[in-house]
Amino acid sequence: MIIVMAMGATEQEAANVRDQLHQYNLTPHDNYGTQRVVIAVLGDVAPVRDLLMGKLSVMPGVESVTPITRPFKLTSRESHPEDTVIEVLGTKVGNGSLTIMAGPCSIEGRDMMIETAQAVAKAGATILRGGAFKPRTSPYAFQGLGIEGLTYLAEASKVTGLPTITEVMEPSQVEVVAKHSDILQVGTRNMQNYSLLTAVGKAGRPVMLKRGYGATIEEWLMAAEYIVSSGNPHVILCERGIRTFETYTRNTLDLTAVPLLHHLTHLPVVVDPSHATGKRWLVKPMALAAVAAGADGIMVEVHPDPDQARSDGEQSLTFDQFADMAGALYKIHEEVRTLSKDPFAMAGPIKVDGASKH
Ligand code: PEP
Ligand code: MN
Repeated sequence: MIIVMAMGATEQEAANVRDQLHQYNLTPHDNYGTQRVVIAVLGDVAPVRDLLMGKLSVMPGVESVTPITRPFKLTSRESHPEDTVIEVLGTKVGNGSLTIMAGPCSIEGRDMMIETAQAVAKAGATILRGGAFKPRTSPYAFQGLGIEGLTYLAEASKVTGLPTITEVMEPSQVEVVAKHSDILQVGTRNMQNYSLLTAVGKAGRPVMLKRGYGATIEEWLMAAEYIVSSGNPHVILCERGIRTFETYTRNTLDLTAVPLLHHLTHLPVVVDPSHATGKRWLVKPMALAAVAAGADGIMVEVHPDPDQARSDGEQSLTFDQFADMAGALYKIHEEVRTLSKDPFAMAGPIKVDGASKH
């Protein structure tokens, strides 16, 4: 349920609404828009919905009371109609600009990290990526440089001025990763690691939540809800492919997620064509398609010598390939923006049914 306070409603009137909710053991969550206060109601509303709607809708200062039909509340567009814009070191994500996150799959050393950072910065990247704690399928594969890698990432950020993103795999690592990196990444394998989601929700850094490779869009948004309800509204969603019966690609890139998410949620949406395809030559066409579909940005893997990479070389771009792709992405982005002011606005209400019922 969301309560929209009237323009000019007093702070006391909003406080009375919050008190009313507390009486029913519900938790108010304020969203301050540019014009008015919107109070989202968290908790088990169902048993008291009708009673509460009747009481709240006649309270002074209340403009409207609307039930939120989605199971995800704070991440839902219903509760927060404006897009969420996330700002890191002066770079904005979700404000209509194109975000390009680029860098190596794994940070392999200081020199390669700085060299890659300089190359991607020159070619138009806006955020630097690099994995220090690596979730590898095999326990015998390179697991990343850990904290040493984080220091190289931070140094590369200083050299280039680019904000950084890196993966955090467990709650005990959150503090150290947040100390060295501007954005925390939760990987596909951890999308439903609820203790990690709660921990990154309290870390005071923006979080990019990758879609679980077997997760529905609704499960993904419920995972984002854990982060936001833990106190962190700065969440970026990243579609990185899901597992299907197809074997030519590493995963199947679900690009319908982009317009669907823009409809369902106010959070920015980024697409990772590297992990989605697993093949270098498929990265550029899928990145272009993602931007054409309205993605707020993309994340791609870039390596000075992909064939020698310690992880994901097959899908990593060379510096030249990245520069070529980034130029094309900016062109497509400019086109998409001029095609329509709001490519997602459609005449009339859109009905979107969730698939999962559990
Ligand atoms: C990554 O981005 O480094 C990564 C491991 O991605 P994913 O979690 O999507 O597999
Ligand atoms: Mn990788």
